[in-house]
Amino acid sequence: MPISHAEIIMGLQALELEQESKVLVHVSLPALGDVDGGAQTVIESLMAVTGTIVMPAFTPQTMVWPPRGPANNGVDYAAIDYQQLNADAVFFTPDLPVFPGVGEIAEAFRQQPFVQRSSHPAASFTALGDEAEELLATQTIEKPYGPLEWLQHHRGDVLLIGVDHTQNTSLHFAEYLVGRKQFIRWAIALEDGRGKALELPHFPGCSNGFNAIEVEIKNTTRVATIGAATARRVPLERLIPTAVGWIDEDPAALLCSDPACSRCNAVRKAGRS
Ligand SMILES: [Zn+2]
Repeated sequence: MPISHAEIIMGLQALELEQESKVLVHVSLPALGDVDGGAQTVIESLMAVTGTIVMPAFTPQTMVWPPRGPANNGVDYAAIDYQQLNADAVFFTPDLPVFPGVGEIAEAFRQQPFVQRSSHPAASFTALGDEAEELLATQTIEKPYGPLEWLQHHRGDVLLIGVDHTQNTSLHFAEYLVGRKQFIRWAIALEDGRGKALELPHFPGCSNGFNAIEVEIKNTTRVATIGAATARRVPLERLIPTAVGWIDEDPAALLCSDPACSRCNAVRKAGRS
């Protein structure tokens, strides 16, 4: 039996979401199983239950690379084929599709009527609801995590449906707050018909170690099953301080265990200096 609109609504209500809720949603359509109506049904269910919805609309396809750049920047410049990557890069425009890896639902959400989008060339967010404009306006090139900070201070939650904390963007905001090393990246955007390259500060590190947060926030996580997926709701006003406190105490917290991970190694190296 395909999963229905009503079943998804029941799952969201089991998480005690309601019209006052403001959610940053990371969701995998394949993880839910066979949804009757696909991505559109999931979006309409979220819209029926919660008042403010925020999703990532990330576009790494805009990123370009210099032949060499700052040291300890989580990239081996000599090892990347920058000419090929730069030839493949596309300009950011407000209607550029969300990168496929972010998920089919994030792209379908971008296309909904009344959904607004911020203008960060690689890390934009989309939002729907009365406060969408206000929360999206907090994002600038210098403050890429603005919408997450807004959600933290307006009783917002992160909602993970069929994905784990390795997809949880808000943990990168915690890394930023605690002063963990982040990276410089570059992207191209089209502004007033003219292309330009932009330097992007505070680009996040690796998220492969983020599932370690789960035990730390167990008591504040609500869990429900929606179709074949596990759905988790975590209040940002609890998640962010917990992650900040842990990283502050242990500079290796939430880093991954791959000894060849260039970004986690750059963080470890910065922590020692
Ligand atoms: Zn890593």
